[in-house]
Amino acid sequence: MQVLSYLSLGSNLGNRRENLKKACELLKQSAGVKFLKSSAVYETRPIGRVEQREFLNAAVKLKTVLSPLELLTLCKQIEKLMKRKKTVKWGPRIIDLDIVLFGNLNLKSKQLTIPHKEMEKRQFVLKPLSDIYGRGKHPVSGRTFKSMLKKLAGESNIRKVWTKI
Ligand code: ADP
Ligand code: MG
Repeated sequence: MQVLSYLSLGSNLGNRRENLKKACELLKQSAGVKFLKSSAVYETRPIGRVEQREFLNAAVKLKTVLSPLELLTLCKQIEKLMKRKKTVKWGPRIIDLDIVLFGNLNLKSKQLTIPHKEMEKRQFVLKPLSDIYGRGKHPVSGRTFKSMLKKLAGESNIRKVWTKI
């Protein structure tokens, strides 16, 4: 069975846009995944910690025959592969891949919460997601991503920096 899934991508270390591109390439090469679309790239000012660099964030749309856990494993493999290549020490994220939506699945397990549990609070998830899923709704609450974004409009610390990854 093929399922539509949306991932959130983030990077705040090294050549952040290249990292997003690399993650997309690796997704495209992955068995069981068909890469369908990607959003614009947004820069997000981190709140709090001064030493943390700004994040670049984007979202991608996939079609997959993988199970949710297999997709999580793939995300972790890509993170690991990219971290190993680029860093010698621990540090901020070269790449972070999170599963935001997996069809209409509502799942809470130790390893995986889908829809992503922080999505309602995060402009950097909702903004790119609404680029590629403008009519999308939260599978549990039924709220549109756009209405969720409106609620967060006061705290605008996100800006579009590239129209594509
Ligand atoms: P962050 O919360 O900043 O993304 P990590 O990328 O280190 O932190 O992820 C920590 C753990 O979150 C993962 O090992 C994974 O098991 C869990 N997790 C729960 N739900 C999800 C999801 N929807 N997508 C990705 N990881 C998830
Ligand atoms: Mg993560």
